[in-house]
Amino acid sequence: MKDLLLQKFRAAFGGEPTVIARAPGRIEFIGNHTDYNGGTVLGAAIDRGIWVAARAVEGGRAQFVSGHSPAVVEVALDGTLSKQTGDRAWVNYQLGVWAKLPDFALRRPAGFQFADLSDLPSGAGLSSSAAIELATGLALTALAGEHPERVTLVKLGRKAENEFVGVPCGILDQGVSGFGQRDHLVFIDCRGPSFATVPLPADAHFWVFNTHTKHALVDGLYAARHRECMEAAQALGVPLLADATPALLEAKRAVLPELNYKRARHVIEEIGRVAAVRAALAQGELAAVGRLLTASHRSSQTLFENSTAELDFLVDQLAAAPHVHGARLTGGGFGGAVMALTSGVFGAAQAEAVVAAYAARFGAQPAVLHLKTGSGAELVPVG
Ligand code: ADP
Ligand code: MG
Repeated sequence: MKDLLLQKFRAAFGGEPTVIARAPGRIEFIGNHTDYNGGTVLGAAIDRGIWVAARAVEGGRAQFVSGHSPAVVEVALDGTLSKQTGDRAWVNYQLGVWAKLPDFALRRPAGFQFADLSDLPSGAGLSSSAAIELATGLALTALAGEHPERVTLVKLGRKAENEFVGVPCGILDQGVSGFGQRDHLVFIDCRGPSFATVPLPADAHFWVFNTHTKHALVDGLYAARHRECMEAAQALGVPLLADATPALLEAKRAVLPELNYKRARHVIEEIGRVAAVRAALAQGELAAVGRLLTASHRSSQTLFENSTAELDFLVDQLAAAPHVHGARLTGGGFGGAVMALTSGVFGAAQAEAVVAAYAARFGAQPAVLHLKTGSGAELVPVG
């Protein structure tokens, strides 16, 4: 990757970059819709990501080139800086990071040239957006002689995505890309937010099946789930659902509409499952972890109702397959991808059988990726 990136930078800009950084994509391991309810979540940084190379230049302008888009995009870095549109929109993540640096009292380069290269599919639910933000944050701060803490880079990336790009994501994506470690999960308490790593046995393999389906009304469905959760918290007399216990929920069941009871039960029990996964991991019990993953999916299916027939089919197939510990939808739901936790014995032939069964049922093929954990965002020596 690094050699190809250097070639790309030289071809576009006729010289050498002074910094290189890379950041991984991530999988939501467990903790479904817990973030905005003040809960906890576990994610895995994966062994695919985005590499960026940059150098500072005079002239108050930024030039971008990408594996994503071969033409050089140039943007003036002055008071007119605004969100780009059309086929220039891919630079908004990088521009957002540059624009938000002063909010964290960090100096920034007045002008720069920038190239990136990725082996992370974009828009596949693996958070290429957080990867580009974290790698850009590392590179631009290094160009300005700043070396911020990891947590600052994480918050910078999220702020860029929330406020400049305009996507209201939680802290999971950037937190996992920033704090990831090989053979570990990242545990996030969304309320701090605070971050910790949790060891994962080396024989943990991930298989992601992306259905490329997306519910047409997904934004409205998200907003409805958010509202139902907040209404449930209010009826329970707590600030957020993370403050409620299963006992409180049952004691107050009569005051909740049935729908809000189901949403609240999913979130409260899901936070319990995150804690149970941590306990099982401490014992090295991947089979128990897998059962909790599948239980999370069943709860999405019946209580939170953010699954789909396609996702349920994949989970049913995978949960019944040998060498699979468990499977669940990963990400927000209403379409998207299923993640299976497997041992190293599960292989391409078994994945192919799942794809064939899916194709026979739905007439379309999910995209399959075999992933392991990977390390978090880091600067890479240029030489
Ligand atoms: P996800 O984060 O799940 O991959 P998003 O829609 O949040 O999906 O982010 C995808 C966007 O990130 C792409 O549309 C593109 O603008 C940007 N992006 C992804 N990969 C790259 C890359 N290698 N270079 C530049 N921009 C990228
Ligand atoms: Mg994203």
